[in-house]
Amino acid sequence: MDFFSLSDIPSLLTHLADGPVGISLFVFWLLNVLILGMALGIGQLILRGYHQQIRPNRPKDWGIGMLTVSINALITQFGLYLYSLGYLQVDFVWQPSKFVLGLLGLFFAMDLFMFIFHYFIHQTKLHKIIHSLHHQAMHPKPIDLFVLHPIETLGFGILFIGVLCCISFQIHAILIYLMLNVLFGIIGHLGFEPLKKWPKNKYSLLNYLGTSSFHHLHHEDLSCNFGFYTNLWDRLFGTYQKGEARGGNKMI
Ligand SMILES: [Zn+2]
Ligand SMILES: [Zn+2]
Repeated sequence: MDFFSLSDIPSLLTHLADGPVGISLFVFWLLNVLILGMALGIGQLILRGYHQQIRPNRPKDWGIGMLTVSINALITQFGLYLYSLGYLQVDFVWQPSKFVLGLLGLFFAMDLFMFIFHYFIHQTKLHKIIHSLHHQAMHPKPIDLFVLHPIETLGFGILFIGVLCCISFQIHAILIYLMLNVLFGIIGHLGFEPLKKWPKNKYSLLNYLGTSSFHHLHHEDLSCNFGFYTNLWDRLFGTYQKGEARGGNKMI
């Protein structure tokens, strides 16, 4: 039975935009809580699958994680508001070429903008005020993806909404991009490298992707690896550090 399909999204968005703000905000909050749960679930599955130690999340991590989720719900609500006014347009018609171009565009544009945002946070006093919260974890665990200062969460969210306001992306590209965003985030905060034994040659795509080691090294050494999905911008701007993190999860 077909309960829901992507073609239902436009009417759903119209309903939410026309209804009380409290309802849409609650729906977006639930959706973001679900994303947090799924992300942590995927993290746990990978850690267990590779027989890695599972370090407990502190109550403080849960508190900040829930705050991040709530801010993400507010950002989604803001996106809906811009959509209802026509400032943010979404293409709901499936077109393979537009999907591929849109997904690649979102992936690389967001990778570059987040690299710039992240790099400048580290060069200014904002690091101490905002970003040091995320860097309390020298050896990250999956929940650290959500352990962010509210201003940082807002910054990333507004960046994404800003990109969506520039071009009308296909809904399929937006949804796949959002899934990849969470997946890369979890991979970066596993605290160990699951792809250590994967065959690598100099042409392998893995050499250019933001792996677990890539972001884990950034948590150990704040002067390198500011990228997220790829290491291309770090290579270009001379901040790339190759190798493996020194600490992290232990085998069980
Ligand atoms: Zn950082
Ligand atoms: Zn991190």
